[in-house]
Amino acid sequence: MNTQTRDTLNEKKKQLQEELSSFAKKDPNLKGDWDSVYPRVPGGNIEDAANEVRDYESTLSTEFSLEIQLRDVTLALEKLEKGTYGICESCEQAIDKERLEAKPEARLCSVCRAKEENNG
Ligand SMILES: [Zn+2]
Repeated sequence: MNTQTRDTLNEKKKQLQEELSSFAKKDPNLKGDWDSVYPRVPGGNIEDAANEVRDYESTLSTEFSLEIQLRDVTLALEKLEKGTYGICESCEQAIDKERLEAKPEARLCSVCRAKEENNG
């Protein structure tokens, strides 16, 4: 299938990895997982520490969403290899082209995606 999609996904994967590596180090023990570097708390000032923990928490949520994107992009590349790219994981219908153009790593068609969102 189209090499353009593969290029887009590879480019996206590279960007996500770069973004992750800017604030996280790759844990050599956990394949494909990333750990945020915990900030050093200097001096033991409680307010500073609280701020640092808050920063750390927001870093974690950013890291989490980047990890999910990276995982989906990697999965989409695997699907391209297997020839199952662009097929909804839930209903196994083809995902609409517009959706794939907007989000090439999409795993669900828009109908199943909407259902999943409604379920919380
Ligand atoms: Zn579906």
